[in-house]
Amino acid sequence: MAEKLIVAGAKVFDGTEFIGKRDVIAVDGVITEITAAWTHTEKSAEAEGAQFVDGTGRTLTPGLIDCHVHVTVSGAGRLDAFTEPFSLKFFHAVENLRRTLHAGVTTARDAGGADAGVKAALAKRLIEGPKLRAAISIMSQTGGHGDGCMASGAEMPMLAGHPGAPNGVADGIEGVTRKAREILRAGADQIKICSTGGVLSPTDDPRHSQFTVAEIEAIVAEAETQGAYVMSHAQGTQGIRNALEAGVRSIEHGIFLDQETIELFIEKGAYLVPTLQAPVAVIKAAEAGAALPPAVVEKAIMVAETHREAFQAAYAAGVKIAMGTDAGVGPHGENLEELELMFAAGMTAQDALRAATANAADLIGSESVGRIAEGKAADLVLFDGDLAATGLGALRGQIEAVFQDGVRRR
Ligand SMILES: [Zn+2]
Repeated sequence: MAEKLIVAGAKVFDGTEFIGKRDVIAVDGVITEITAAWTHTEKSAEAEGAQFVDGTGRTLTPGLIDCHVHVTVSGAGRLDAFTEPFSLKFFHAVENLRRTLHAGVTTARDAGGADAGVKAALAKRLIEGPKLRAAISIMSQTGGHGDGCMASGAEMPMLAGHPGAPNGVADGIEGVTRKAREILRAGADQIKICSTGGVLSPTDDPRHSQFTVAEIEAIVAEAETQGAYVMSHAQGTQGIRNALEAGVRSIEHGIFLDQETIELFIEKGAYLVPTLQAPVAVIKAAEAGAALPPAVVEKAIMVAETHREAFQAAYAAGVKIAMGTDAGVGPHGENLEELELMFAAGMTAQDALRAATANAADLIGSESVGRIAEGKAADLVLFDGDLAATGLGALRGQIEAVFQDGVRRR
């Protein structure tokens, strides 16, 4: 028998805008109908054997999409990765995925770490979690942000590679082409590269660029021939420009932006995935006693403010923005803090929600998620209150229910 779900009378944000109070009906995990509010009642639902959810005084949004997570990573600066058994991170990932889903994130893009096995476990429903688009490995030049070679000569376990997840370090056109092919062979949905240094790596500077434009172009070309695309970790201005010139689809972090670079985003139609939560999480972790080198903490403090200003300038100029958190650097399950931070930085509630729904779906190339419309997946989040009126300042405390493919997950 068909499984029917009716969410009645909630104020609906459809992925693009607040459309007023509606009833949203889903059958077997797919939205089939959106009607005037209270066309359905608890009684009429009972009569047709449907699950009924009262949306009075609540806001219904599409399931949220976090475009930058690392589900197999559990905390910044954890030296435990060097001493833990190799496979323990996958068991941690089970809990990380569950927390992410319960936080209202029904789809996520993993920016390195999760492999095809994690995706398969989700697809088989062995574990619960968001629908996952995995980058698997992190491509980096020798000595770049994704090179896990430490000063001691030891390899950082997360970046070292393992069967099904190639070590992402490569150089030169031939080298990066072959590496992109290896990562796509391992089942990557998109290729993650680093075109600048970063905050967590002790020896490189986030303002320095990594990979040449020609190398990035070769990776983009290889990804596109196989129906994929490239996301680039890029913080410094030159590395952002190089990645945009070469045709990457999204810039991750994007901390040092100038007006010229903002215009290049618009010219190329590229997305910015700001991850405002990431430097905040590094600072919080350091305050809580995490084993982080002082240079890393100083870098995080420096970039937090710059990052917010860059985000504001890009938003004001009309750059396409998609929500991402870098969860894994910070705790999993606090993903909606990113929306709170975007809202606090001056983004409207509507635009922030759009960044986490329709915009994010367009970025990851999904037709089925990110919108409340007929034919879309019944991935839905019900929030207490009227978000159009109150804004997103306390969003994490307002989650009432999370549905994925029409099934209640929280
Ligand atoms: Zn990341």
